[in-house]
Amino acid sequence: MSYIYPPATPYVHIAGRPERFAARRVYCVGWNYADHVREMGAEPAREPPVFFMKPSDALVPNGGEVRYPSATENLHYEVELVVAIGVVGANVDASDASKVIFGYAVGLDMTRRDLQAHAKKHGQPWALSKGFDQSAPISALHLAAAVGHPTEGGIWLNVNGEGRQDGDLSQMIWNVPEIIQHLSGFFELRPGDLVFTGTPAGVGTVERGDRLKGGIEGIDTLEITLS
Ligand code: MN
Repeated sequence: MSYIYPPATPYVHIAGRPERFAARRVYCVGWNYADHVREMGAEPAREPPVFFMKPSDALVPNGGEVRYPSATENLHYEVELVVAIGVVGANVDASDASKVIFGYAVGLDMTRRDLQAHAKKHGQPWALSKGFDQSAPISALHLAAAVGHPTEGGIWLNVNGEGRQDGDLSQMIWNVPEIIQHLSGFFELRPGDLVFTGTPAGVGTVERGDRLKGGIEGIDTLEITLS
């Protein structure tokens, strides 16, 4: 069998291994750190987690150059812990979540904040504000076998060397096992899936030429430049 115009396989590097992680779906959690919920003008509540998606060909490897996207005048960064799925799982109980996790990475959930504000106001979906080209820079994956399953540790982001975000994984409203439980109740998770788990406070605007560097204690750092 051959295919007309087969797309390139989106992938993520794996630290210390020659193979690449073939990316299937990119799920994202919104409003998962109380201080970020407050800065967005809402009150944090333990409502069920909010999910949205990005296309997997929006992934950009560490060190990459990201073009400033069209149709926005307010591009924001959001540094996030990313979970990579390595085993098929549906209706996974939180207590079993670690069994489906392949590893972890540092990601950026780039956002057209002006379009997102418009979408929220008018009850529209977030495809244009969250799912645009190159909206998901990501570091190499680090195997859970090497880094464990992080539940605490600093998560931070600098722009041109200036601190902007400085939170801790322990501040998540829904922790990783709980996210896996919720998400796998709606979708069968499969190897290649990635889950961006939300961002702490300090999100803000970036401009062409800015250098963004984010990191998570015990995982990795991620650096991109906007052009
Ligand atoms: Mn986010």
